[in-house]
Amino acid sequence: MGNSASSGVEEVRRLIAHRGRHPVISLYLDLDPEEFATPPARSTEIRSLIDTAAKQIEAQAGLDHEDRIALREDLRRIDAFLSSPDAPFKGARALAVFSSSTEDLFETIKLSGPVQRQVVIEPTPYVAPMITAMEQRRWLVALVSRRSGLVLAGSPDGFDERDRVEDDVRGQGEGGGWSQANYERSIEADVEAHLKRIAEIVNLRWRAERFDRIAIGGLQETVPRFEELLADEVRRNLAAGRVEVDFSSATEAQIREAVEKLVAEDQKRTERETLDRLEDALGAGGRAAGGPQATLEALNERRVSTLLIEPGFDGRGKRCSSCGLLLLEGEDRCPADGSELQEVDHLREAVVEAAVAQDADVLVVRSYPDLGPHRGIAALLRF
Ligand SMILES: [Zn+2]
Repeated sequence: MGNSASSGVEEVRRLIAHRGRHPVISLYLDLDPEEFATPPARSTEIRSLIDTAAKQIEAQAGLDHEDRIALREDLRRIDAFLSSPDAPFKGARALAVFSSSTEDLFETIKLSGPVQRQVVIEPTPYVAPMITAMEQRRWLVALVSRRSGLVLAGSPDGFDERDRVEDDVRGQGEGGGWSQANYERSIEADVEAHLKRIAEIVNLRWRAERFDRIAIGGLQETVPRFEELLADEVRRNLAAGRVEVDFSSATEAQIREAVEKLVAEDQKRTERETLDRLEDALGAGGRAAGGPQATLEALNERRVSTLLIEPGFDGRGKRCSSCGLLLLEGEDRCPADGSELQEVDHLREAVVEAAVAQDADVLVVRSYPDLGPHRGIAALLRF
């Protein structure tokens, strides 16, 4: 039984590699703390979702008898799991469950972002909401003061403390017989050595682990000095803002809040920059696709580097049963090889899977309405 503590693009990759012959139940449970914080509220939500799934299994067209029986069994298994103490609700904003007993598949994945409650029964795990909910970026966070340092790592669904540094930097007024000027120079040298020590920890971690972004912060005057000590490769990935927190006196919750605020701002800035690049490239007739038709063509040609979609983008489409080409509705035969086409009920899922399969980033654009004229979908292209 797979039961993962965090979500990542590797999990999505693994799930979409699962293409069995039997249907899979994909179930998304919303755990919004404002609505479902108490166990009774959560139980009611689980009950309602299981009922929805049960109706869907009975109403699902095109299932043979054995598959339907297997799906009922899957649902009993999901129900038992979600009602058990093993259910990993703690720290999750939502939960995804994938089950197909005939395919030996049972996975639960905690999600950091909100999802709509949903049940999908299809031959493959339905992963699009996972991508939408998940922040794919891994963050390293370093907070500094004149004598302390705190290094955190994680993603918006949670940060862990990795290193805590306390150096013996003397305070003012312990100078003994030194002249004041000499004494202050000596203190500053101690502070510099202290900041260097934290920078080395950060530089090493950056190289040893895989991070996408770094945020720094802490007490104002030490932060620019610390920034200069970071390796070039680290600095290149520095978030524009600073984590504004005095971590010597802040609670863990306050530190977390300050980090999350910066990560959210960084996400918004990424959306803006990516949309600007899209607009420039489309205006110049360059490496970009706008709208479902052009984006599907680019995905089929494996040219996409970043797929941009609105949170609500979906639709129906078709897929060539022979070469896998994705097409919009209205086609009867594959234009490439004349083969028959299969119905695609969730175009959103199909485009996200195609993007992940060609190592493209998927960016869900939440903060700006720019994708409206492109009917909710566009792409930046590699060539
Ligand atoms: Zn084809």
